[in-house]
Amino acid sequence: MKAVRLVQVGKPLQDADVPIPEIESTDVLIRVAAAGICHSDAHYRDGVSKIDNLPVTLGHEVAGRVEKIGSDVTNVAPGERVCVHYLVHCGSCEFCKRGLEQFCRSGQMIGKHRDGGYAEFIKVPGRNAFALPEDISFEVGAIMMCSAATAFHALKKARLKSGESIAIFGFGGLGFSALQLARALDCGEIYVVEVNAAKLQSAAKLGAVAIDAKASDPVEQIKDASGGKGVDVSLEFIGSAQTMRQAVQCLGALGRAALVGLTQESMSIFPYSELINKEAEIIGVSDHLASELPTLLEFAGSGKLRFPSEALHLVDLDARQINAALDALQDSIDHVRTVIVPKA
Ligand SMILES: [Zn+2]
Ligand SMILES: [Zn+2]
Repeated sequence: MKAVRLVQVGKPLQDADVPIPEIESTDVLIRVAAAGICHSDAHYRDGVSKIDNLPVTLGHEVAGRVEKIGSDVTNVAPGERVCVHYLVHCGSCEFCKRGLEQFCRSGQMIGKHRDGGYAEFIKVPGRNAFALPEDISFEVGAIMMCSAATAFHALKKARLKSGESIAIFGFGGLGFSALQLARALDCGEIYVVEVNAAKLQSAAKLGAVAIDAKASDPVEQIKDASGGKGVDVSLEFIGSAQTMRQAVQCLGALGRAALVGLTQESMSIFPYSELINKEAEIIGVSDHLASELPTLLEFAGSGKLRFPSEALHLVDLDARQINAALDALQDSIDHVRTVIVPKA
């Protein structure tokens, strides 16, 4: 079969001809119908995130049709449309038993530690395959498995309750999903903090209060707009110490700041006025859980979570086109997502 693989860090991905994976009794073989090209794939290619088992087929945002199942697989059947949970876990360690598989001692990321979806077929454990509702396209199913799933996990970690207000820092793929999911969870007022005018406009169109961080201090703007109260929940998707600080500072009493963006910078806070006095919380968020995906798919199936088709850019399973898409990702600022659609 055809696969597009990372052979050497720092070099373009290469077209390869590899055997169709052999499945074990607990695996499924999926014919890939769509594979999202993610920012982290660019990081793998460029060596920003380390991969030490090369060559490897990238691609952790995958949807397709079940081609074959192992004898022990019961949750999906051949021919079924599915999307893939990208974290392969052991199922038996202390974390897996508690449903916290992102901390699995022997967890493997699809498309990083094992071959991913930039290929005609992919092999995954049966429990990583989730039925994809008929009215969600493969392309949308694929991209939902990363940013939308993580945005949803952030909202779960922040314990957003009905009627609560929320501030979203950064309106890329994560923020765009978070806004819709917060509304699906019946939130109150939504504030979107951005510097990009087009993104602010799109947030306002979706009913959020657009907070232009370039105009003046976004914390003051949120405080003013909320009558001095601040917000119940803030989500930080940008990954800078400055916006993380702001995400904490804009909280009201009992507020929760969920930090998702990645940074190596350190962040300072005033413990008394910003945390203790308000009984506020700062929460770290990493990846998402398999148990959250059915609800996410339900929101998508019922139209509460949407990705307009103009936000999708399709390419072939072809190294040249994929490398070009990865190059473009480096400096892209919009939320157009590129998805690989292998030719049938
Ligand atoms: Zn991703
Ligand atoms: Zn485990």
